Amino acid sequence: MTYQDPSAPGAARHESSLESRYRKLLHAVPDAILEVDQDGRITILNEAAERMFGYTRAELLGLNVDSVVPASMRSGHAEHRASYAAHPKTRPMGTGLELQGQRKDGSLFPVEISLSPNWIEGSLHVIASVRDITERKSVENRLRTLREQYTAELTVKNEQLEARNQEVERANRLKTEFLASMSHELRTPLHTIIGFSELLSEQLEGPLTEKQQRFVGHILQDARHLLELINEVLNISKIESGRLELKPESFDFSQCVEEVMAGIRHQAASKNIQLENQNTFHDSLYADRVRIKEILYNLLNNAVKFTPEGGRVWIGAERQGEGLHISVCDTGIGIPEKEQRSIFEKFYQVGDTTGGVREGTGLGLAITKHLVELHGGAISVASQPGKGSSFRLVLPLIQEQAA
Ligand code: ADP
Repeated sequence: MTYQDPSAPGAARHESSLESRYRKLLHAVPDAILEVDQDGRITILNEAAERMFGYTRAELLGLNVDSVVPASMRSGHAEHRASYAAHPKTRPMGTGLELQGQRKDGSLFPVEISLSPNWIEGSLHVIASVRDITERKSVENRLRTLREQYTAELTVKNEQLEARNQEVERANRLKTEFLASMSHELRTPLHTIIGFSELLSEQLEGPLTEKQQRFVGHILQDARHLLELINEVLNISKIESGRLELKPESFDFSQCVEEVMAGIRHQAASKNIQLENQNTFHDSLYADRVRIKEILYNLLNNAVKFTPEGGRVWIGAERQGEGLHISVCDTGIGIPEKEQRSIFEKFYQVGDTTGGVREGTGLGLAITKHLVELHGGAISVASQPGKGSSFRLVLPLIQEQAA
C-alpha cells in the first residue's frame, strides 16, 4: 500500500487557498502532529514531526507508529492503542506516566501526548499531538535538585540549631544550679558578718569611737545589701529552675498591705514621702501570703526609692469581677516609654534616669513579674518621666476549694 501525502507542503498547489492556510497552520505549530490509521501506520504528519523524530517525511509516511515509541514501551503500546479504539475521545495519553519518544538515531526524549479520534469513512484514525518537554523536564529537575539541596541544608542547619539549643539549655541549667548553690554558700558567712557587726554596733562589749561606729555602720549596710542581692539571685534561680513552689492560703489582704506599708514607712519618712493606703479590698485572698508581701514590698520599695524628697507614694486595690486589681503609684522620676518593657528583665536598670539612685540589684521587678505570673496574674506599668509611675497588677480571685 502506498501513502499519498496530503500534508506535504507542495500539495497545496492545486488546492483552494483555505486548505493551503490549514496546511500552513499544521506546519507552523511547534508540536509534532501525526495521524495514525487503524493498523498503527502514520498517514499524515507535519514538519515538526520530521524535526522531532529525525526522519524524513517519506520515511515517516506508512511507518508503524511503534517506531517512534521506545522499545521498552512498545509491547504496552499496542494494548494502549486497542483500548483507545474502544473509548476514542480527546484526552491526554498515559496520564501519570513519564512518556518518551524515540528518534531515528535511537535517542529518547520526554514527551507529552494528546490524542483525538478522527473518523475517516468509518475507520478510526487517531491524531496524536506530541510535545517535546525536554526543556521543561530539565528545569523541573534542576528545581527538584535545588529543592532537595535546600531541604538537606535546612535539615543540617536545624540539627545544628537543635544541638546549640540543647547546649544553651544545659549551660543555662548549670548556671542556675551554680548560682543557687553559690548563693546558699555565701549566705552563711554573711549572716555571721551581719550578726557580729550588729553586736558591735550595739556597743554591749564596750564603747566604740565615732570613727569605729561609722566603719561598723558601713560594714552592716553593705553586708545587708549583699545579702539582699544574694537572696534575690537565689530567688530568681529557684524561679527559673521551676523549684519555687507557691504555698497558697487564705489570708486577710488588708492586713498584709498594712504590714508591707509598715515595713517601708521608715524609709518613706526619711525622704519626707507621703505614704497612702487606698485599698478597698477587705476580703480574704487565697494566694501565697509571703510571696504577695514580697511583690508589694518590691513595688513599694521601688516607688519610694525612685521618688524624690517630698513626693507621694500610694497603693490601691479593688475587686473587679473575678480579679483583684492592685496599683502601686508614685510621683517619682518615672520611666521612659522605651524602657518600660525592659525593666522587667533580669539585671535591667534604667540608665541615667534613675538620677543616680543605684542601690538596687535590677532583679526586683524580674522576680515580681515571675511571682505575679506564678499566681496566674499579670503586671504592667504606665509611667511618664518626671511625673511618676504606676505599676498595675491583676491577680485572679480564686476560691480556696476550687484552687
Ligand atoms: P532595682 O533593684 O534596680 O530596683 P528592679 O528590677 O526593681 O531593680 O527595677 C529595675 C529598674 O526599673 C530600676 O533600676 C529603675 O530604673 C526602674 N524602676 C523600677 N521601679 C521604678 C519606679 N517606681 N520609678 C522609676 N523607675 C523605676
